Amino acid sequence: MNATGNRALVIGGSLAGLFAGTLLRSIGWQVDIYERSPHTLDSRGGGIVLQPDVVEAFQRAGIADEVPLGVIAHERYYLNRDGSIAETMPIRQTLTSWNLLYSSMRRQFPAEHYHQGKHLSEIAQDETQVTAMFADGTRETGDMLVGADGPTSTIRHLLLPDYTPQYAGYVAYRGLVDEQELDSATAKLLTERFVFYQFPNSHILQYVIPGENESLIPLERRFNWVWYVNYEQETELPHILTDKNGHRREYSIAPGKIHPAVEQAMRAYADQLLALPFQKLVAATKEPFVQAILDLAVPQMVFTRIALIGDAAFIPRPHTAASTAKAAANAIALIDALVDSNHNVPKALEAWEGDQLALGMRLCKSGQALGERSQFMYGKGQRSG
Ligand SMILES: Cc1cc2nc3c(=O)[nH]c(=O)nc-3n(C[C@H](O)[C@H](O)[C@H](O)COP(=O)(O)OP(=O)(O)OC[C@H]3O[C@@H](n4cnc5c(N)ncnc54)[C@H](O)[C@@H]3O)c2cc1C
Repeated sequence: MNATGNRALVIGGSLAGLFAGTLLRSIGWQVDIYERSPHTLDSRGGGIVLQPDVVEAFQRAGIADEVPLGVIAHERYYLNRDGSIAETMPIRQTLTSWNLLYSSMRRQFPAEHYHQGKHLSEIAQDETQVTAMFADGTRETGDMLVGADGPTSTIRHLLLPDYTPQYAGYVAYRGLVDEQELDSATAKLLTERFVFYQFPNSHILQYVIPGENESLIPLERRFNWVWYVNYEQETELPHILTDKNGHRREYSIAPGKIHPAVEQAMRAYADQLLALPFQKLVAATKEPFVQAILDLAVPQMVFTRIALIGDAAFIPRPHTAASTAKAAANAIALIDALVDSNHNVPKALEAWEGDQLALGMRLCKSGQALGERSQFMYGKGQRSG
């Protein structure tokens, strides 16, 4: 693709930012990504259900043929409390990891245009340009700015200050276990399957994802589990989100940082309530982590030359398994709109916004319906199973 002479500033260098960055380059834009973290974002290796929009984004960015994208699960199992199989469903899905998607796109995106340690603090725009100002005092100017700065988006805060993520009433405890770390009977039951255990006001699920260095080789991969547990916002959540150093975290606590008392209570609760294979999975997890489940839906994604994408705009609950696909879909539609409008940014963004708002709303509503049904059927609290 020939260069168009246009320049995009992408704020946030996680999945949404990298989808936008790699795809904008594929239509001839010059792109710079600005990420506030000074480190490579490699510590969040959770699982992701691979959806068609992600595959399409990779194909369009020229990444798809480079690496296999995940582990295939051939069926779903729903377990009974005693660990026996209650129900099976022949559903084929590809399961991947945050790390694999992130690393694949980082390899594709030129390192000299990915800037770490750049914290956007202000924005300005006029009829022809948009300017990003950073906490280190530097500024950059381009034709378009993509706000891919996630749930705590500074750009959303500047443009839509009344819209912040709302706690949904429950958290996800999560964990990863190397394939070799589970006993062979449990591993055999869980491998290459999407397995669920549901009980009143909670459920846990697991699937196998790529392992260290994106390995898809059997016995080098990882079990990935997610367990949804209700906590009251004022009285219980602050305790769960206080890390082992006593710092209150806003929405999540990283692996190795959960407070020992919280971790111990979670492990005891798992032994008390979960089906045996899941008890073993939780027990084998060295460093569990936790994320509050959030709701966010904005009424507007376009501000002349600025577009909000990914979790900065809409956070559907994870039961939809669609947030990453939504970020990819936002970026795919963005480049199509730019090409269709001959790279006229305000015109393209205006044409882009309607469908993206509808997509975000639809996913948020379906995630809420799924979450309310699984977590709050018996009131807001926890049930004993
Ligand atoms: C429990 C759970 C399970 C999930 N499971 C799935 C799943 O199965 N499938 C799925 O598709 N998705 C899943 N997700 C969601 C998925 O992780 C995100 O939707 C996806 O990573 C897209 O996020 P993002 O890039 O928009 O935001 P983020 O990943 O939050 O990235 C935002 C980036 O912007 C940077 N940033 C923030 N502020 C600034 C600033 N001022 N200046 C510069 N940089 C800044 C941040 O450092 C960060 O790197 C799950 C989420 C949760 C909580």
